[in-house]
Amino acid sequence: MRQSRFLMRTLRQDPGDADTASHRLMLRAGMMMQVVAGVYSYLPLALRSLNKIEAIIREEMNAADGQEVRMPALQPLELWQQTKRDEALGPILFRLRDRRERELVLGPTHEEVITSIAKAHVSSYRDLPLNLYQIQTKFRDEPRPRAGLMRGREFDMKDAYSFHADAESLDVTYKRMVQAYRNVFRRCGLPTLAVEADSGAIGGKDSHEFIMPADSGEDTVLRCPNCDYAANAERAHSVKAKAPEGEPRPLEKVSTPGVQAIPALAAFLDVPDRQTLKTVFYKADGRTVLVVIRGDLQVNEVKLKNYLKARDLRMATTEESRAAGLTPGYTSPIGASGASVLADESVTQGNNFVVGANEEGFHCRNANYPRDFTADAVLDIALAEAGQGCPRCGGVLEAVRGVEVGHVFKLGTAYSTALNATFQDAAGNLHPMTMGCYGIGVTRILAAAIEQNHDDKGIIFPAPIAPFHVHLVALNADNAEVQAAAERVEARLAARGYEVLYDDRVESAGVKFNDADLLGLPVRVVVSPRNLKQNVVEIKRRRDEKGELAGFDALESKVAELLDKDRLQAVPRTPPAPTWPLDVAAPD
Ligand code: ATP
Ligand code: MG
Repeated sequence: MRQSRFLMRTLRQDPGDADTASHRLMLRAGMMMQVVAGVYSYLPLALRSLNKIEAIIREEMNAADGQEVRMPALQPLELWQQTKRDEALGPILFRLRDRRERELVLGPTHEEVITSIAKAHVSSYRDLPLNLYQIQTKFRDEPRPRAGLMRGREFDMKDAYSFHADAESLDVTYKRMVQAYRNVFRRCGLPTLAVEADSGAIGGKDSHEFIMPADSGEDTVLRCPNCDYAANAERAHSVKAKAPEGEPRPLEKVSTPGVQAIPALAAFLDVPDRQTLKTVFYKADGRTVLVVIRGDLQVNEVKLKNYLKARDLRMATTEESRAAGLTPGYTSPIGASGASVLADESVTQGNNFVVGANEEGFHCRNANYPRDFTADAVLDIALAEAGQGCPRCGGVLEAVRGVEVGHVFKLGTAYSTALNATFQDAAGNLHPMTMGCYGIGVTRILAAAIEQNHDDKGIIFPAPIAPFHVHLVALNADNAEVQAAAERVEARLAARGYEVLYDDRVESAGVKFNDADLLGLPVRVVVSPRNLKQNVVEIKRRRDEKGELAGFDALESKVAELLDKDRLQAVPRTPPAPTWPLDVAAPD
């Protein structure tokens, strides 16, 4: 492909509104164009790369016995009402009406549609297991589209769904899919951590996310450097430092004028933070909920939301607190009425806590559970944080930020029950099918791969997903001898199956080299009048500082050698994944 004819306009300057390296570089290299917030046109460079990512995913899905299907983006709202996910997803769901006023949605995911396919095709246990996948466009009205392809409102996903007669069969497929995901990410040049994840509103049994470590990521993973524990912070467990224990003393009201925040309160009364309790007042779908937790810990709102099965959870406003008879800043579980009280398990461990008195300017010392207050439920509702203990081995947890590139769930029978997708067992009894689902962000992988593989000059494409293999740069491209030699190089590489972007533009060497570095194809071949005099070309890997001169007869073998080196070396700028956290054999 001749660059002079190729739809690609590079930018010298960073675009002002790009918030991450991959977003900035994809715009600068002319890979894509924004159409409206979170929606992009993929120009030839991006599309070539996306097609390669898709091909890798297809190979791995087919190898895991997946069968490819394609479901529609346009779906009837009724289907979503049957599983109540129209409510669960809320404003994320794009809705529209057709000319007959029928309500439709643009699919954000496809559990409902695939379950109706399985329902129509599976009747007996002999038809199971079944593993179906598609690569398709998804629509989500994300509250904050950001970072280019990382979080779009229209994006491509590979979503797979498996159907089984029982949990054991699901286990087998789940492990195969996890392994397939590992293969996909490795082949795309992405180091990932497989971590335990929250299974969300629908609630399945097991769920794992594949997180690519990156400072710009929105997810936090807690992992133990000592053992193989790794979990998304939303769902992680941890061992917290113990609160002081002692004989319960009588409850005592103390004056604490103007002292509200936990550190100030602890200092004022000369107790450690972990000997205080705080009471947080929430509104969950209109209900009022008081959460009591130790002062040094934070409420994990994802755990809370899941426990309450709430669609909408937020902290109550000062006005709402007052209206409920509470005194903001001095809120107390003691004597709380009219709201359900949930206690984190931390409040039941330790004695003589300091807690609000529900009276302006006063706290109580020596509050003890359950003597002075009780709760409707006691549960693990605290956010796990770096520095706390690993729940498996007691090591010290550390935090890693990252981007979620894939997510696998054991769904169980939630959808098959809601949609009545059943099969007959050997005795003729009907059961709902057991399901798994498996998602990979195809467009997000491209952004994540660039986030992971770049330097200050531009992108460094991992060879398997690069839009072209070779950037052939002709210097003094208006020189007839250079042209003839470059065309020969292009033809010879093409004959070997290499994809070549031939920079035939009449531009300065500086402009050409800058563009080549920005675009970051794995191997650059330079033809110049000076090289021609010696009958050589310069060949350089984008990852290397320096190139080397090679005679024409060594052209193909040198390119092959460098691409191979790249394939084997591809990646980690961040440390490799820790030991494999699932009980399947570690790859390679
Ligand atoms: P996130 O937590 O990032 O919002 P999610 O948990 O909602 O993602 P899933 O429903 O698990 O996402 O979707 C499967 C995969 O699709 C994700 O692992 C991610 O790679 C990709 N994905 C999800 N939302 C987006 C988006 N808005 N833009 C691009 N890719 C996305
Ligand atoms: Mg997810």
